[in-house]
Amino acid sequence: MHFQSILNEVYTEVLAMNLDGKVSESIPELSKINPSKFGIHLTTLEGGNFGIGDSNERFSIQSVSKTLTLAMAFSKLGEKVWERVDVEPSGDPFNSLVQLEYEKGIPRNPFINAGAIVIADMIVTLYENPKEDFLDFLRAISGSDTINYNPRVAQSEKDTGFRNRALANFLKSFGNIENDVDEVLDFYFHQCSVEMSCKELAQAFYFFANAGKTKEGNQILTESQTKRLNAIMQTCGFYDESGEFTYKVGLPGKSGIGGGIVALFPKEFIIATWNPRLNEKGNSELGMHALELFTTKTGMSIF
Ligand code: GLN
Repeated sequence: MHFQSILNEVYTEVLAMNLDGKVSESIPELSKINPSKFGIHLTTLEGGNFGIGDSNERFSIQSVSKTLTLAMAFSKLGEKVWERVDVEPSGDPFNSLVQLEYEKGIPRNPFINAGAIVIADMIVTLYENPKEDFLDFLRAISGSDTINYNPRVAQSEKDTGFRNRALANFLKSFGNIENDVDEVLDFYFHQCSVEMSCKELAQAFYFFANAGKTKEGNQILTESQTKRLNAIMQTCGFYDESGEFTYKVGLPGKSGIGGGIVALFPKEFIIATWNPRLNEKGNSELGMHALELFTTKTGMSIF
């Protein structure tokens, strides 16, 4: 397969589309990003690396981070994680509050904000220095030791994160947050503010495509746990657009409102895209089209 020429074609075709996505305004600091940034990076398990556009420029990974905190919690707690968070698609927007009351404080899945805040609480309980330990984990799995938080983005979200604060307090009222709400939110806002490039994200997600093992041979999750996390990405990774992503792209993946998407084909490849213009579901419009074209042109979808 000539991956570089396929990426080149995808890039050109997507840029020629008439799209109307908008840069997120929910976090003021993120709304300043240049909307025309666009990069794609593909890492194959055979050792190939192919990139195009702004694939080496770092951006705010936002909710893509939820997959990585979940991996950290799952690796320590195993199936106990699911006593506090479910694994069902929510069919609701990522920051929705409505289901939480009916479902007595058990979030539908770990990728909506409510679920990710419960996972953040687990990390705060499990790790001595949660923020440092999360960065160490990211640096180890991506092989880039300069990956860091963007404190301005974290502060900007802290200043305006009224919904997340409401969700965290609501969860606490059901007894599903163990730690101080502000401490948990501080960790959550920081994990969302991490900046990574498409290439670094593709490297970091290598273990999800490699039965839980990093390129260097570190076993992060068991093979069975990896299958399960990939399954949650498939069913819940794009909130109320998870069905559409599965239908059009056919790979497990995770998006963030910074405009990043990471998707993977177990035992084959990891692909990351970035363009900050989002559709009305909060997913990168260009990224979704690019991945749809990529799996169509290569015939490489898990279905
Ligand atoms: N930090 C964002 C929030 O909590 C993440 C949302 C996302 O990327 N979908 O609202």
